[in-house]
Amino acid sequence: MTIDTESRRHLNVPCPFCNLLCDDLVIENRKGKLKVSQHGCHLAKKQFEQEQPGVTPRIGKKDCTLEDATRAAAKILKRSKQALIGGLGTDVNGARAALQLTEKASAIIDHMHSDAAFRNLDVMQNHGWVMTTMAEIKNRADLIIFAGTDANTNYPRFFERVIYPNDSLVNANKKNRQIVYIGENLNIAPAKKAGGKQPINLECRQDKIGEVTSTIHAIAAGQEIVKHAIGSITLAQLKELTELIQQAKYGVIVWAPGELNFPYAELTVQSISELVKYLNRTTRFSGFTLGGNEGGMTANQVTAWQSGYPSRVSFAKGYPEYDPYRFSAWQLLRNKEIDALLWISSFSAPIEIARPRIPTIVLAAPSIRINFTPDIFIPVSTPGINHVGQIIRTDSVVSLKLRKIQESQHPSVSEVLNQITNQYR
Ligand code: SF4
Repeated sequence: MTIDTESRRHLNVPCPFCNLLCDDLVIENRKGKLKVSQHGCHLAKKQFEQEQPGVTPRIGKKDCTLEDATRAAAKILKRSKQALIGGLGTDVNGARAALQLTEKASAIIDHMHSDAAFRNLDVMQNHGWVMTTMAEIKNRADLIIFAGTDANTNYPRFFERVIYPNDSLVNANKKNRQIVYIGENLNIAPAKKAGGKQPINLECRQDKIGEVTSTIHAIAAGQEIVKHAIGSITLAQLKELTELIQQAKYGVIVWAPGELNFPYAELTVQSISELVKYLNRTTRFSGFTLGGNEGGMTANQVTAWQSGYPSRVSFAKGYPEYDPYRFSAWQLLRNKEIDALLWISSFSAPIEIARPRIPTIVLAAPSIRINFTPDIFIPVSTPGINHVGQIIRTDSVVSLKLRKIQESQHPSVSEVLNQITNQYR
């Protein structure tokens, strides 16, 4: 339920519904109802225009006050020996408050998408990498290789904003850009439609991409390759692509760790990353990664600032203990290694947890689908719609200020979590 009484037009609204964080949306607030009138993709339209039902907090199936709900939530966390604060679909303030509560409750903290994030984090922590930003790709890149992602299905305005934008520092680059796709079931239509060079499409299974990039690395290093093909990609095609890569003045390989969803996908990220590092001996080449949706990048950054580790941190010993394997939220849930759960989803992710037979506390936007009845449900407002906030973009170098464009009766995640934390004083 909204309580706006006037109509307003909001310009340059940042959108938090994928981690490109486009900041040019035009949104009308017509007496409390939102309408995306310019620049929103289908995801943005769906999320901004969705009406949030006015609901009250609940304990079990009974309505209650926010105070009762936070008191009951604190009781659950105080009783637990090993709680998990998970989901973390929230902004900087929400993530800070989650971390503070995790410390008070001697709990474990992890984000809902950290399986994907750790495919990157493992490589960054252990080997280092060379990465670029959205602005650098937009203004400089002459060769862009999409490895396992079309950067369109899950990031609908990436081509419009970054690959073929209306304005860029070096317009010649935009026209002469060569796009290459490597992977499976990729939608290459956006690159075909742009009217520039026709894209090169090398189809292979997602779990073969690492072999493709390692082979390119070997060819670039002057090794003799005896294999004639990887899947349907021939050695001749790989040699041609290696030549293109070596001739590029500013090449970029783009991947989305969430779309490399197969066992040991971090090895694929490592192979891509090692290729990029090697190419920098003779030309300029960078990696770029698409991910961190639902506040994922934000949660990782905040946890890193405050604990020294990006995620999967336990405070059970009274200090931050990091273990990317033992403290994975989904693994803890699967193995039934926790005795209480607090889950946060204030943007758009549905909550699907298989039969959690432990006390559960859920903080979620009222429209979010939950596949179980939590012991305590607290409806929260959405950052970037109902309250101001801050969130960190996919390339991790830009943090955007989110705006309030609609009133809400629901508190923010940080307000609720701070109320729960205050019960410890
Ligand atoms: S591409 Fe992503 S950030 Fe941009 S409008 Fe669509 S959902 Fe929002």
